[in-house]
Amino acid sequence: MKIIVAIDGFSSCGKSTMAKELATYAGYTYVDTGAMYRAVALFCLRNGWMTENAIDETQLQAHIHELTVGFQLRPDGGQDTMLNGENVEALIRTLEVGNGASRVSTIGFVRRELVRQQQIMGRRKGIVMDGRDIGTVVFPDAELKLFVTARPEVRAQRRYQELLGKGEQITFDEVLANVKERDYRDTHRAESPLRQAEDAILFDNSDLTRAEQMEKLKRIFDEAVGRCQH
Ligand code: C5P
Repeated sequence: MKIIVAIDGFSSCGKSTMAKELATYAGYTYVDTGAMYRAVALFCLRNGWMTENAIDETQLQAHIHELTVGFQLRPDGGQDTMLNGENVEALIRTLEVGNGASRVSTIGFVRRELVRQQQIMGRRKGIVMDGRDIGTVVFPDAELKLFVTARPEVRAQRRYQELLGKGEQITFDEVLANVKERDYRDTHRAESPLRQAEDAILFDNSDLTRAEQMEKLKRIFDEAVGRCQH
């Protein structure tokens, strides 16, 4: 029997790595909902609806239904984010688009539209979805919910390495400030703030290696599937 796995948590805590590896282990579909918010941000930026201090919500609302975000599998097993059929994977991974995603994700009609698309993706179960509101809003009945966290400094270090690798000019302190700012925005927004679902398992990976994390995750997953079979 197939289940739904909901993985929520702060930014840069390794959720997507965990979710991807678990999906491969389980033979499930992986859905990166952060990429969907990033695609909406890119859509806004390209149309000139997002400036440093404002978002043109009227325009965005008028056009949000023209936007479809999907995923395409790559031969190497990874996946690319598709915005209306265009591969935007590389374009959405910048700091600018990440910040934009954090801003558009506070808008109610944006969340409602993406949640609707996400619920359709999970209809047949067999899915691992990561985000901020998966266990609380998108799939409140998910059979397995995880809430992933790590200390802010650990997360900033991970994100810093990732951005350096992409050639972004940035200091560790700027990344740390950015991580904290996003945490604040994610947990304090009026629309679906980030919070741990009551029935979610808290998973702190600050001091785990990737291999240790995966072992623990597989165990939790196998137990959850076992429970559902009884
Ligand atoms: O996870 P990622 O950093 O790609 O997410 C980008 C932004 O999208 C986050 O900062 C968060 O504010 C937002 N997000 C959200 N709900 C989700 C997934 C992401 O609000 N389910």
